[in-house]
Amino acid sequence: MRAVVMKFGGSSVIDGPAIDRVVSIVDRERTAGSAPVVVVSALGGVTDSLLALADGARTARKPLIAEALKSLTDRHFAEAARVAPSTAWLKDALQGHLDELRTALSAAIDTGGLAPSQADVVAAAGELLSSRIVAAAMEQRGLPAVWVDARDAIVTDETYTRATPLPEETAQASAALLQPVIDAGKIPILGGFIGRTVDGHTTTLGRGGSDYSAALVGSAIGAAEIQIWTDVDGMLTADPRIVADAEVVSHLSFVEAAELAYFGAKVLHPSTIFPAVSRNIPVRILNSHRPDGSGTLITAEPPVRSRPFAALACKRGITVIDITSTRMLMAHGFLRRVFEAFERNATAVDVVTTSEVSVSVTIDDNRRGADIVADLLEIADVTVEEQMAILTVVGERLTTHSALAARVIGALTGFPLRMISQAASRRNVTIVLPEAYLAPAMMHLHRELFAVAEPAR
Ligand code: ADP
Ligand code: ASP
Ligand code: MG
Repeated sequence: MRAVVMKFGGSSVIDGPAIDRVVSIVDRERTAGSAPVVVVSALGGVTDSLLALADGARTARKPLIAEALKSLTDRHFAEAARVAPSTAWLKDALQGHLDELRTALSAAIDTGGLAPSQADVVAAAGELLSSRIVAAAMEQRGLPAVWVDARDAIVTDETYTRATPLPEETAQASAALLQPVIDAGKIPILGGFIGRTVDGHTTTLGRGGSDYSAALVGSAIGAAEIQIWTDVDGMLTADPRIVADAEVVSHLSFVEAAELAYFGAKVLHPSTIFPAVSRNIPVRILNSHRPDGSGTLITAEPPVRSRPFAALACKRGITVIDITSTRMLMAHGFLRRVFEAFERNATAVDVVTTSEVSVSVTIDDNRRGADIVADLLEIADVTVEEQMAILTVVGERLTTHSALAARVIGALTGFPLRMISQAASRRNVTIVLPEAYLAPAMMHLHRELFAVAEPAR
């Protein structure tokens, strides 16, 4: 049987009509002869509300919490009544998750703080609730759905709020849990984003992590395809919130997709591609609002396309740190000490450029910025610039056509480019510039590089 993982994001399950569409999409896949495994995000906006609740619990704003809890409860029960009016078990199941949520929040108020592990119990409620509702909606429409607790499938470390899945344990647990359900001709439904430590504590994989859950599960069961159903027609040639006429890229290589995700194309969580690559499973990005589109197909093979580039991606809120050696030379060991400062403060570096005596790096998580700078000042002069942005052009052809990088830089003449980098993979050219220039630079670059339409496939 051809197992297909189908992941539906928050906007694809935002309300009753959206959930009905999901049921139809899964039904169609099953009728076509596949064995679907369904992974769902929290109902649109719910994770944001839960994180706000967790914040409220930290500062013990009791009335606000009670009000927010009530509105979350009402919303889930209302959608449940709409899509699964006669599923007897659903109310109790939802109430169980809501009670767990309430307990975590009350404990936080009583003790004057929310432990990180409890913060994840709060964040995880969204996916537990939505997966129950979607499972019930499937059952209501006569599909053989079986709700599965995703925490039994995804085993993680203890880095609460952005836990890392343990690959072997997760592969084993997911296969052991899901394969028997598939073999029995049933459809497992589970929440994305959530997992559990070996010791049994609930964890979450970081914002947007449901894509990653889908890929982990797909890899564990050796799925034929991993489908990411969202609210756009596929991976677009640029962020559609900046470039209104961005077009769908019909085919991407795994490496191109991974780089686009890493450099900010939100439609895919940056870790999604790795589990797919490990078992060479094609990933497809599809629009749940327009299920007949062909979307974007992501495979190992380099795509054949008329355009020289795949797409643009961008990230805002970047901090640039310039580090200049005080001894006026890049002495042996200098770079090691620079990177140790970032490692000690558990902060990932995105872009790096060097010149004779200085190194510039970017980080997108500036929470430990002050500690990093203090460490660096022991060996170097340091300047920090905030409100910067990264703009990246990705395409396999950059590896073989060196003139293409020059075309990218040339097209941006007149913009204040702060850093320019092309790493060893040479599949991207990355530019750092002030955030205020990002939108005009992306629009301009898109016009210059993507004017030729891609032929329909
Ligand atoms: P979901 O809730 O389905 O996971 P997300 O909001 O996480 O959806 O991702 C989809 C959004 O990603 C789109 O609505 C779009 O605004 C944004 N996005 C940013 N860059 C791109 C891109 N290059 N292609 C498609 N979408 C993109
Ligand atoms: N619900 C989670 C979030 O909003 C995970 C996801 O949607 O992928 O970040
Ligand atoms: Mg997402």
